[in-house]
Amino acid sequence: MNNDKIWLSSPHMGGNERKFIDEAFNQNWIAPLGPNVNGFEEDLQKYLQEDVKVATLSSGTAALHLGLILLGVERGDEVLCQSLTFAASANPIIYQGATPVFIDSEPETLNICPGALEEAIIDRMEQGKKPKAIIAVHLYGMPYKIEEVHAVAKKYDIPVIEDSAEALGSSYKEQKCGTFGDLAILSFNGNKIITTSGGGALVTKDQKQKEKAVFLATQARDNAPHYQHSEIGYNYRMSNICAGIGRGQMQVLDQHVEARREMHKFYQALFEEVKGVNIFSEPKNTYFCNHWLTVITIDKQESGFTSEELRLHLEKKNIESRPLWKPMHLQPVFKSAPFYGSSVAAEAFEKGLCLPSGSNLSQDDKTRIAEAITEFFTVSKEN
Ligand SMILES: *Cc1c(COP(=O)(O)O)cnc(C)c1O
Repeated sequence: MNNDKIWLSSPHMGGNERKFIDEAFNQNWIAPLGPNVNGFEEDLQKYLQEDVKVATLSSGTAALHLGLILLGVERGDEVLCQSLTFAASANPIIYQGATPVFIDSEPETLNICPGALEEAIIDRMEQGKKPKAIIAVHLYGMPYKIEEVHAVAKKYDIPVIEDSAEALGSSYKEQKCGTFGDLAILSFNGNKIITTSGGGALVTKDQKQKEKAVFLATQARDNAPHYQHSEIGYNYRMSNICAGIGRGQMQVLDQHVEARREMHKFYQALFEEVKGVNIFSEPKNTYFCNHWLTVITIDKQESGFTSEELRLHLEKKNIESRPLWKPMHLQPVFKSAPFYGSSVAAEAFEKGLCLPSGSNLSQDDKTRIAEAITEFFTVSKEN
């Protein structure tokens, strides 16, 4: 058995990506437009259904930035954002000169807590400012509490941007994640469930919104023979080369979801007998999680070890694992931002660990992971 590094989540090509790239080269479509861009957008629209329109962009972060612009978020506005997430969910709020207001998670999905969300809205309104938007995240592919979160959003008439960067292939009540929000974003970064090396998409409700996003993503050029601009634009469009990779990846997306769900089952079996280790799983059968990453939480009192001890042991075996996202309200860069809730996100960060979950992990890799973890239990029991 080899000792190559086992990664948390690495790119996994299906085989046809090169065919689409070769076509782009043969036709000299190397630009941020072309048949692969259109083809990839159509593939995504078909996959997501619900009549959405998709604009493919240079990253998920760019998609969130344009989403905030489309919702009219401006300097001085406030945007409510799930605290337990990757920094890219929150950074675009700052790009717009707005203020993030962070919201705690609830324990079942580890996503935005509807109760804390409503508390925040009421309090911000009492202080004289109605939040302009809500950013809710399907963390590690787990759908957030769709009905409860959208009920609060509707009650106060605040639009939701659904951060579905980690959740392509997940669904709730058979409806795909990425179709619930007023707008949604996807990411095709190198470690996501499918990748275009780097890339993202904004999912909109109609063609007009999509056209506006594409206009802003291509330098906001007015309709004139010369270069004329009435608005500030961005260079955020996806290239035809990256979109070619995306078209190949769409052919294997469902296989990737299947393989990652198999990894989740593999860990379920591995940890079944271990006291104090909880595998983060779907709370009900209405949830379908792509299990982009399998997450465990460890109760030190019961298990006798910490997530950091397990992480260091795996690292010695050349196996990558990683703490959960550190909540945004605990980040130095956001220390002055308001926060609503208690300690659910902070505790998840404290106790959690993400395990290798790639769709390309081999039987050998799984054996190595199982042996490393079993050895760790034996050693930690002896101490
Ligand atoms: C990856 C990710 C993003 C950003 O996507 P990029 O394509 O890397 O810019 C945003 N939100 C979450 C939750 C992510 O995991």
